[in-house]
Amino acid sequence: MAYLDLSHLEKSFGTNRVVKDFTLGIEQGEFVSLLGPSGCGKTTVLRMVAGFEQPSGGQIIIGGEDVTRLRPNQRKIGMVFQAYALFPNLTVAENVGFGLKVAGMAAGERNERVTEMLALIGLPEKGGHYPFQLSGGQQQRVALARALAPRPKVLLLDEPLSALDAKVRVSLRNQIRQIQRDLGITTIFVTHDQEEAMSISDRIVVMNGGIAEQVGEPFTIYNQPATRFVANFVGTLNTFEAVVDEPTTGTVTLDGQTVSLGKKIERLRGDKVTLALRPEALHLGQAPAPAMQLQATVREVHFMGSIIRVKAEVADTMVSLDTFNRPDTPPPQVGAAIQVHLNPGDFIAL
Ligand code: ADP
Ligand code: MG
Repeated sequence: MAYLDLSHLEKSFGTNRVVKDFTLGIEQGEFVSLLGPSGCGKTTVLRMVAGFEQPSGGQIIIGGEDVTRLRPNQRKIGMVFQAYALFPNLTVAENVGFGLKVAGMAAGERNERVTEMLALIGLPEKGGHYPFQLSGGQQQRVALARALAPRPKVLLLDEPLSALDAKVRVSLRNQIRQIQRDLGITTIFVTHDQEEAMSISDRIVVMNGGIAEQVGEPFTIYNQPATRFVANFVGTLNTFEAVVDEPTTGTVTLDGQTVSLGKKIERLRGDKVTLALRPEALHLGQAPAPAMQLQATVREVHFMGSIIRVKAEVADTMVSLDTFNRPDTPPPQVGAAIQVHLNPGDFIAL
């Protein structure tokens, strides 16, 4: 059994079933993200783990103990929310020590713990400040310190970065990950931002309509999406329609060419199949077989810095192609006829 074991969790509000047969095991020290669009049930799962919401069915086990019926304060869980939920009339130190005081920890030990937590989040000098004197990113670090101060078994983070500016968001997510690693604390992180989830998670749970569509490491989720929803949600996708010639060898006809994917396709001979390809798997220029060659016309060029995204028309379909910037090579021009190539093994059959 995993350290944090969510088994067949269900939640309905009236007739609205918002979490459906949600099963997930998280190892001790693991960092797992719940990723999905707004309204898919991420917060509801988190609130059930925390004890703020009673499941309509299923079980929650932490470290071998069934906590499904325990009150939030009996579960040894720390939680951080999207909005900085600090007490505005308390100092930073009082905020961080709040849970410890409620739990009856003596002042001396409490002060020691608060000092330790402020050092952990890199704000050792801010104990006497009030929340309004801090930046948004600093307030979220204080909220993190407050959640960690009672030494919880599990840390729950509900979109803790979404109210922050882009740069602060990236820097704070790296700090959160570093602190989580240093403490080795089992963590569930909720986000609707696929890049955020992929950059910091050990594993990602992609949710859709209350269901876990796929659970896996970021690399697998991105490169081997299990469903069309997952494929689309975690990145940009080019799709091509093909007809299956031989399912066992993955041979198809695409744009009048016979192409071998080099892997089995779960279809019958003569079936239609959608082949998907990430923008970075389409390349400019020519390459010898087994690469597949396509003629394209450039329609849009987006210079994004290190990457250039080219949108081009290939056989009546618009595709996106990512290429690295090279200081000595200008990007292609809109309207230009270009050659693109791809490795058929990179196709994802959906
Ligand atoms: P997410 O965090 O993924 O955006 P939520 O878990 O907040 O999604 O919500 C999932 C669904 O459950 C939504 O349709 C939402 O309206 C509904 N919901 C959440 N909380 C309640 C509640 N207390 N009462 C009724 N419906 C709720
Ligand atoms: Mg939410």
